[in-house]
Formats: sequence, C-alpha cells, structure tokens
Amino acid sequence: MTYKNFTIETDVDGIALVTWDMPGKSMNVLTVEVMDELDTIIDQTVADSVVKGVVITSGKSSFSGGADLSMIKSMFTLQQEEKAKDPAQAVEKLFALTGQMSGLFRKLETCGKPWVSAINGTCMGGAFELSLSCHGRVASNAKSVKIALPEVKVGIFPGAGGTQRVPRLANTQDALQMMTTGSSLSAARAKAMNLLHQVVAPEDLISAAKQMIKDGLKPVAPWDEKGFKVPGGGIWTPASAQLWPAAPAILRRETAGNYPAALAILKCVYEGLQLPFDTALKVEQRYFTHILQTTEAFSMIRSLFISMQELGKGARRPAGVPKAEFRKIGIVGAGFMGASIGYVTAAAGIPVVLIDRDQEAADRGKTVCESLVSGSVAKGRISKEEGEKLLSLITPTPDYAALADADLVIEAVFEDRDVKKAVTEKVEAVLPEGAIYASNTSTLPITGLAKNSSRPAQFIGIHFFSPVEKMMLTEVILGKDTGDKALAVALDYVAAIRKTPIVVNDTRGFYVNRCVFRYIGEAYDMLIEGVPAAMIENAAKMAGMPVGPLSLNDEVAVDLSYKIFNAAIADLGPQSVDPRHMELVTKLVEDGRLGRKSAKGFYDYPPKPAKKRLWPGLKDLYPQQRPEDVDVKVLKERLLVTIALEAARTVEEGIVTDPREADVGSILGFGFAPYTGGTLSYIDGMGVKTFVALCETLAQRYGDHYRPTPLLLDMAAKDESFYGRFDPFGKKAAA
Ligand code: NAD
Repeated sequence: MTYKNFTIETDVDGIALVTWDMPGKSMNVLTVEVMDELDTIIDQTVADSVVKGVVITSGKSSFSGGADLSMIKSMFTLQQEEKAKDPAQAVEKLFALTGQMSGLFRKLETCGKPWVSAINGTCMGGAFELSLSCHGRVASNAKSVKIALPEVKVGIFPGAGGTQRVPRLANTQDALQMMTTGSSLSAARAKAMNLLHQVVAPEDLISAAKQMIKDGLKPVAPWDEKGFKVPGGGIWTPASAQLWPAAPAILRRETAGNYPAALAILKCVYEGLQLPFDTALKVEQRYFTHILQTTEAFSMIRSLFISMQELGKGARRPAGVPKAEFRKIGIVGAGFMGASIGYVTAAAGIPVVLIDRDQEAADRGKTVCESLVSGSVAKGRISKEEGEKLLSLITPTPDYAALADADLVIEAVFEDRDVKKAVTEKVEAVLPEGAIYASNTSTLPITGLAKNSSRPAQFIGIHFFSPVEKMMLTEVILGKDTGDKALAVALDYVAAIRKTPIVVNDTRGFYVNRCVFRYIGEAYDMLIEGVPAAMIENAAKMAGMPVGPLSLNDEVAVDLSYKIFNAAIADLGPQSVDPRHMELVTKLVEDGRLGRKSAKGFYDYPPKPAKKRLWPGLKDLYPQQRPEDVDVKVLKERLLVTIALEAARTVEEGIVTDPREADVGSILGFGFAPYTGGTLSYIDGMGVKTFVALCETLAQRYGDHYRPTPLLLDMAAKDESFYGRFDPFGKKAAA
C-alpha cells in the first residue's frame, strides 16, 4: 500500500519503519489526511503478520510541528455555521471532532503491536502527543531536538491525550509546569522527566528504536497495566496535598486568570488522575471542546498562529516584483540600533557594511556584534565557527564608497532631520540606481524624510524594535511616494532576517508607538488622579500586559517622552500635548529621573542584587486616593481600551489597513494582552457595540480621549466587526 505522507519499509526482523515526510512541506503537520493515513497504517501493520513492531520517524530535519492549526481554524468556521442552525447539535459535532485525534492515538496505543517513536528533531504539540501514545520513545541528542506541548500559547491545550499521559509519566508538578507554560524541553530534560526512554546519538536513532522492539517492548502503556500507580502516588498523597491547593494560586499569579486554557490543564490533570484512563480522556475531550468555544482560543489562534504565519509569508508583498537577492546590505549609523541590525542581517548570512562617522565609531558597532555573538555561542544557540562566520560578514568602515554595490541601505543615525538629510545625500551619491534606501526612524514621518531623496519611490521606513535581536516585529512604513519595489525589497529583507513585518502608512509615531504612548499617557493620567503607582503597574499586569506602563516608560527613557512632547509642540502647536503630562515628565527629567539608564525614573534601580522598586516620591507628587477607593477592574479596562481605541483610529485614518497587522503588531510590538488576540480582536471579541458603550462610559468619567470615533459608531450601528468590515481575506475594505 502506498501513502502520500508516509513511506513504510519492513526489515528482515519484521520491524516496519514508518517515515513521515509530507510532500511540498518544510515541516510535517497533523492534518485530516495524515490522521486518515496513520489510521490505515495502524490497521495495515496490525493485519500484517510479518510486522512485529513499528518505528515511526520523520523524513525531515524536524519530527513535526504538531497539529495543523488551520484545521482548527476551519473547525471554528464550521462551528459558527452549525451554531447558527442548532447550537446544541453544534457542540455535539465539535465534541466528536475534538475526539478524533485522541481516539486515533488511543487506537495506536492499544493496537497490540509495539510502536516506538524515533524523535529526530523538533517534536511539538500533537506530534509529541502521538509519540506519547507510542510504547517507546527514543530521541536524538542533537541540539535541534526540542520537545514541547506549546498549545497554551495559542489559547488551547494538549487535547489529544497530552494532559493525561504526561502526568502519568512525569511528576505532577513538572507536568503542570510543562503544559501551562508551553515551554520547550531538551531531549535530556524530557528524559529526566521520564517522558523519553532513551536519548542517543543521531546516527543511532533508528537502530536504538528498533532495538527496543527486538528487546521485547511490551505493546501496553504503563497505565493499561494492572496496578499502575501515578508517579508520586496520585492526588490523595501528602505531596499532592501540598501541590494542589497552591497550583491554581500560582497559575493565577502568572496569568491573572486571563488564560482559560491554562486553567483547563489543571482541571484535566486533577480530575483525570482520579479516573480510569479512557474516562480521563473523555474528561479532557470535554474541556477541550469547551476551550475551543472561547473567544480567547479563537482570537489567539487567528492572530498568533494564522495571521503571524500569513504576514511572515509576505501577505502584503506586491505580486510581480521578483524576489530580492541580497548580495550586500549597508547600515549607516553603527550605534545602539545600527549595530544590532548589522548583527541580525549577518546572522541571516548577508554581507553587511557598517558605516559610521569615523573608523572608531564603526568599530564600536562591530564590537557590539562581537558581544552578541559570544552571548549566543555561550548559550549554545550557535557554534563558535558559525559565530566567526557571522562576524566575518560584517565590515565596519567610515567609507561610503563601500555602498557602491549594496542592494539595500538602512539608515540608523541620530534622530535629527538635518543629520538624516546629509546621510541620505551622501548615500545616494554612491548607491546603485535600483537599490532601496530605508530609514529606521522611530518618530519622523517617512514622507518628509523622502523629500531629501532624489528617488522617493525607492525610499521606505523599516522600523526595528529594541532589542533588535530579540524583538520579532518590524514595522514597514510607506511614504507617500514609496513604490512597490521598495516594499517588496523591504519585505524580502524582513523575511530573510526571519522577523514578522507589518506594513503601515505614514504618520507621526506610525502604529506601534502611537499605541505605546497612549498606554503610557493613560498611566500619567492615573498618577495625576492620585491612583497609587503600584496599583497602576499591577492593574496593567492583571490586564495581561507584560510590562507596566511606568516600567515601560523607564525602559524607553523618560527624557524620550520629553523630547517627543517638545517635537509635537514644535510641529503641531501647544494644544497637541496635555500640559499636566508635560509638567509630570519635566519634573522627572529635571530631577535626573530619566529611566533605567540613569538608575532612576518612575522606579529606583539600586545596585544588584537588590530589585527595582517604585520611587516613593511619586506619592508626594499628587494627592493620593485610598487604594480601596480605586476600582482595579476600571484601571484594567482603561489601559486596554485606550490602546485599542488608538488602534481603531489608525484604521480609520488609513494608517493600518489590515486588521491582522494591527493585532500581530500589537502583540509582537508591545505585548498587548496576548489572550485577546491583539488590539482589534479585543474590540471584535467583546463586540463593537459593547466596546462603544464602554468607551462612552469611560469618556464621561475620564475624558474625551475615550470618545468612540465615527468609524466605531458606524460599525456599532451596523453591527460590524473589524475582521468583517476590513476583511483581510479578499473582500474589499469598505471604509
Ligand atoms: P545612537 O545614538 O545609539 O546611534 C546613532 C549612530 O549614528 C551613532 O553611532 C552615531 O555616531 C551615528 N551617526 C551620527 N551621525 C552620523 C553620520 N552623519 N554618518 C554616520 N553615522 C552617524 O542612536 P540609536 O538609538 O541607535 O537610534 C538610531 C535611529 O534608530 C534613530 O533614528 C532612532 O529614532 C531609531 N530607533 C531607535 C530605537 C531605540 O530604541 N533606540 C528604536 C527604533 C528606532
């Protein structure tokens, strides 16, 4: 029998080697077709008397990324359609669907012949759940082997037996930690947790897996043996009595109750460990069906998986422009940003010329790259040789003539219009005709900067976020005259350095910083109202933000806010800045409280190991409200709503044209409460009508900046959503 996604070779010992290798895909994923084929393979190998046992491995460099989440997305669509017809039946159908993968793995586990999973590379999610249902698990000790059940990161959980098999192998605390964080394990760690039987050299992987079968591996899972005991003795033990009362509290501390899937993992494990295995699987299936119906799961899968992938693959790239090949990229300004941009570019294998005002300044940029490389080598992310190769690609020089054969130049000099103008002219004097010029400005509109260019169609913004080597987002900004080729080249470059782009039109602050400054501005308002600073910071975290607004302001520098205010006043007039905000920021700057860089800002930063703490003097700036008089729920709402409203304004102004970009940009750019799926999904998730009502209530108490915009009012009247009205999947935008 032949299969599309698998090959089977049975050796003289009667061991069938099933190799999973999906045609035309760089990674194996679990699709309906793959599950059907696997089902048939189980039947075929059981029926074939020659076959004594099965080893399953992958023909690709990784084992598998897990379930194809597009399959889950189509389940959402189906569910919505069915729900409109008959809600009760829709849930029943969903329940049946969610049980398919779990049922298939249970069939494998109880098929009567031994199966061994030979894990040759990354093995994630459903693929690890498949491996867990095999009777033996052997992994290669290659560094590339990463094992994880990361479902919680996209709002769901390991619902194909994962929540039942992991805590029947590993101790409960490790099992909960692994599944509620979704973090990756090395093969050695997975073995130490008892999730693998063996870890061997890559070249010995298949023989070791086969040897397990030859050594008489029993085709019975431990939990199907009589007298099986859960590691540590199960729920009713003194150790569990310590663990379980604390577990929900710890989870709440980490997630503030924002992630229903994480809580469902706790419930599955707690309830499941008290039940026979097949009943436990049913319990898991019920919780999974419930979680799939949550707004969080829907929005997170859409933004954090589907949209992110689509944007990464160049959803916004103009068709018809040939793919750019980068023979050399120039970076002008080898400072804080330029040096790291040079590093990520060289890490993508592209030769870089790093230019600064003199050789010494350019060399300083390369020194930054050297320390980034030694950090990566020390952490084992790259080998010493790879590090040396990367550094050999970076040439520091003050000589602009080195740009004569560059395909793209990224400017990262001081944020000063005159300096940028001089650099644009110098670069364009040597740059080849077809090459593209990009500015990494964070505040200056691209259209204005392009006026200094003799070829504005080839001028574009590529806005990086700091730290460049860690932040996954880049904001690509189109000036008024930016042409298709510049956009295509910018997106090809972003793809080459493996970051996710969003493409926005030109405006002061672009998209991400406009939202970020709303967040910080709302915290200024709260401080001025006398809300205790600790409540502001904690409310932000409870709302799902990774960093409180005052802490964030310290990171980006308080004097940067001061400079931005002054620039806005100079360009747009004094009414463009709230005088109370100006007064607050001026006070801090005059006191030398510039943020983390000066060891004091909204926080004090005592020498390590002491931790940062809020500056006690904040209490004296404004008359303080009593904590019990402040409604934390309202603080949380204000912080999220003000950002989401700003995102809606950028859509209304035509800055952001695709809701996917607003959502992905907000999560990757500043960590906007990921469980919401991003700024616009937050609005769509509660419904535009509800959002508008919330804005109106907040506007009455906290000011006109909460007034819903005409677009929102129109959408509320027509009962529309952002993803409906600005449908990114083909239909024309209606605004
Ligand atoms: P920086 O001061 O660390 O670096 C600027 C570099 O430009 C310095 O090395 C300087 O010597 C060099 N330079 C100045 N004039 C030059 C000239 N005429 N020719 C060649 N080199 C020259 O500043 P930075 O923080 O790296 O910011 C650079 C740009 O990136 C700015 O436009 C800034 O707005 C933008 N940006 C900064 C951040 C951030 O977090 N710092 C984030 C995004 C974008």
